[in-house]
Amino acid sequence: MTQIPFLDLKAQQARIKDELRRRLDTVLEHCQFVLGPEVAELEAALASYCGAAYCVSVSSGTDALQIAMMAEGIGRGDAVFLPAFTYTATAEVPLVLGATPVFCDVDPLTFQIDPAHLEQRIGAVRAAGKLRPRALIGVDLFGQPANWPALSTLAAREGIFTLDDCAQSFGATLQGRQLGTAADATAVSFFPSKPLGAYGDGGALFTESAERAALYRSLRTHGEGTTRYEVLRTGMNGRLDSIQAAVLLAKLTVFADELAIRERIARIYDSRLGNAVGTPVRVPDSTSAWAIYAILLRDGAARDHVQASLKAAGVPTAIYYPRPLHLQPAYRDSHDGAALPVSEDLATRILALPIHPDLTDEAVAHICDSVLAAVA
Ligand SMILES: *Cc1c(COP(=O)(O)O)cnc(C)c1O
Repeated sequence: MTQIPFLDLKAQQARIKDELRRRLDTVLEHCQFVLGPEVAELEAALASYCGAAYCVSVSSGTDALQIAMMAEGIGRGDAVFLPAFTYTATAEVPLVLGATPVFCDVDPLTFQIDPAHLEQRIGAVRAAGKLRPRALIGVDLFGQPANWPALSTLAAREGIFTLDDCAQSFGATLQGRQLGTAADATAVSFFPSKPLGAYGDGGALFTESAERAALYRSLRTHGEGTTRYEVLRTGMNGRLDSIQAAVLLAKLTVFADELAIRERIARIYDSRLGNAVGTPVRVPDSTSAWAIYAILLRDGAARDHVQASLKAAGVPTAIYYPRPLHLQPAYRDSHDGAALPVSEDLATRILALPIHPDLTDEAVAHICDSVLAAVA
């Protein structure tokens, strides 16, 4: 039985190797390793790709979230609303800044933050009178966009800042527009396994606001002013390096093709598996970047069985996420005890199948056969 890779960065590298080599050689020649010319070129290319006015590249997706929150002055006494069913970084950032994460439940069909529950949670925080509702971090989970039309309307009414955690979903569209302008600021990750991945850590912030973009540039370099040795505010070392920008510029040349291949694979999974297991429900009027293709099994025992059968058949799987954040040791003390039943249920039954642009048709067919055999 041949082993199918969950992700195949070697095969991808073979497809872009000439452009990658040329880009890397250029960096080795000029030796401007941090914020070199590739970084400015990448920022312009990414802003143009998603139609955002400003792009500020940073050192990771987590740092993008943190810089965006720092720029708003978010800290002690502030409530930051976010989904419980997401990666840890979304909740970590408000806590690092002294703010309080307020966990919201997600939609059982699309797995995206539930606007109705968010509204309830904001109301409860206001009624309790202990914390100031300040910000929403909406996550575009698994490659699909969150329900930004509803989230933005609610946030505007409540007067809170919106940050789009688009770490998994750069390349997706909502109502015909690329993600990047759906919220007051958008944070993207270039971790190697994300749809647009570097060869190390990297990230970017997008915004329509010139003031915010200027703050992000200052904050990523220790709060510097117009000269390097003028320090205006407390910042951090959050810059992108030129080698990562060079890799991303090479990968951007094939990104649209890769998204199309991911979509094609998702459709094969949908049609072959849709009657046997729960397959992803599409967010209306959107396209997905398919960072993750997650199926839902009947219960935890069924998931364990399917995962073990697939492993025996050479098919790797992953569980995003085995535990919602409000039940994690690091966060449970900051959780107010609100029930989040959908997040808890998804954590017991969800299973991610391989999806990447170098997955062959034979591999996709084998994965489908193996899932169908396991649930038969
Ligand atoms: C990957 C990820 C992050 C963090 O990105 P890094 O670049 O790894 O710091 C944040 N939020 C979500 C939802 C993610 O999936």
